[in-house]
Amino acid sequence: MIERDLHLWITYGLVAAAVLTFVSLLWITAPYGRHTRAGFGPSIAQRTAWIVMESPAVFVWGAIYFAGTHALETVPLTMAAIWQLHYVQRVFVFPFRIRSQGKTTPLAVVGAAIFFNVVNAYVNARWISELGAYPVEWMDRPSFWIGFALFVVGLAGNIHADDVLRKLRAPGKSDYQIPRGGLYELVSCPNYLMETIEWIGWAILTWSLSGAAFALYTAANLVPRALAHHRWYKERFPDYPRGRRAVIPYVL
Ligand code: NDP
Repeated sequence: MIERDLHLWITYGLVAAAVLTFVSLLWITAPYGRHTRAGFGPSIAQRTAWIVMESPAVFVWGAIYFAGTHALETVPLTMAAIWQLHYVQRVFVFPFRIRSQGKTTPLAVVGAAIFFNVVNAYVNARWISELGAYPVEWMDRPSFWIGFALFVVGLAGNIHADDVLRKLRAPGKSDYQIPRGGLYELVSCPNYLMETIEWIGWAILTWSLSGAAFALYTAANLVPRALAHHRWYKERFPDYPRGRRAVIPYVL
């Protein structure tokens, strides 16, 4: 089998995994954060978990990317910088800002995330620097700039939404408050909405099945979690704003 076929089958595998993940997570909420519960084996500190499980998206991704023959060309390099903008923030900034005193994440969740990030690194980095074709004219396409704009809006919105949550909790505490203001007036999880928009932007700017598979997986992972968060908020806070939806304003 030539590598292009192998890559395509793994990408199809990611699409299949997205469908499976979506259905599974509607039944079993991933046991981390507010949904942490017994029965999922040993755990490690939440901050360490974030760093360890997301690191492959920086380092394995970078190694696969630089093994590609187009790695030093303008458009692949630009795409690599865009990808790393998100993941350097996720690995080296986000975990050090969250207020995660006493919080743990099961190793099973960490292991699953590492596996996903390694496969996703192969699917996306290999496509960008080896199997895809990204001449410099790629940047003349409106799709590149539309995707880039969505990515930037999604990234900024995701970081802002996570920041609002962080400020709800005093240092050293582990309590929860009702988030308010901005997009929080419309949905319970603007951070998930914005993260999904970000990766839809990536799919559009790379105009690739690889990017589309990751965007689909992100939605499959985060929409059920947003529904679980939304249910949890409504159960926990009797005064939770009634008109607020889970993740898509006015819809879901
Ligand atoms: P959450 O919204 O569940 O939590 C984010 C942080 O805010 C946590 O530290 C959480 O604490 C805290 N927090 C949440 N709600 C409240 C509240 N009401 N009051 C006080 N503190 C609160 O997000 P996740 O932890 O699931 O995800 C974190 C980031 O990672 C997000 O930006 C998300 O988009 C991204 N992500 C991306 C995925 C992908 O598939 N691409 C998959 C998963 C996450 P605690 O942990 O104690 O609940």
